[in-house]
Amino acid sequence: MEDSTVSGAHPHEPHAGGFATRLNWLRAGVLGANDGIVSTAGLVVGVAAATTTTSAIFTAGIAGLSAGALSMAVGEYVSVSTQRDSERALLAKERKELTEAPEYELAELIDIYRAKGLSPETARTVAEELTAHDAFTAHAEAELGLNPRELTNPWQAAFSSAIAFTLGALLPLLAILLPPVTARIPVTVVAVLVALALTGSISAQLGGGERGRAVLRVVLGGALAMLVTYGIGQLFDVAGI
Ligand SMILES: [Zn+2]
Repeated sequence: MEDSTVSGAHPHEPHAGGFATRLNWLRAGVLGANDGIVSTAGLVVGVAAATTTTSAIFTAGIAGLSAGALSMAVGEYVSVSTQRDSERALLAKERKELTEAPEYELAELIDIYRAKGLSPETARTVAEELTAHDAFTAHAEAELGLNPRELTNPWQAAFSSAIAFTLGALLPLLAILLPPVTARIPVTVVAVLVALALTGSISAQLGGGERGRAVLRVVLGGALAMLVTYGIGQLFDVAGI
């Protein structure tokens, strides 16, 4: 999420950074869904190992889903807000510098384009034209890597991570509630591991990582979570609590 506001957009194309932004959102969505799958699967498998009472499993699942979705939303809201505050502070500082020391700022912009490989003459032409057009946006993009019109919205981030978590959480919840009692746990384990293989594969593709390793990691992680909570549930079942 950190670089979701970074974009190479031209001043005339407010949505030119949309592709990278969309990829980041998508990746965050897949990760959120992953969280929802693993945490809710662990919860319902643990409770189902201790009791066959459907209402107990359902209540635990719904409570886990709600708590998880809210905690994701709050966490995302806080982190994106903090990030946006610091981005806004940087932009305000840049705006102030542009009014107070425009010559110095122009030289700074020329240096940035020279460092990127342009000749001194070309760098000066580019910097002067960008400054004449929209100095603030030019500096925000070249110096800070920020598009002032595309800062991430904390509410949007909070809402979408809660939705992603909920969608993920629904899978183990349905998988444990729909089948007959004796098939509950096996059906859930299989459904969860297949879903995790899918989300692992998608996020590896989005992130450009190696697919096999990513899938193995997320599937093993999910299997371990269910194994641990199943073991805990069994202990309580055996203890007759
Ligand atoms: Zn500057």
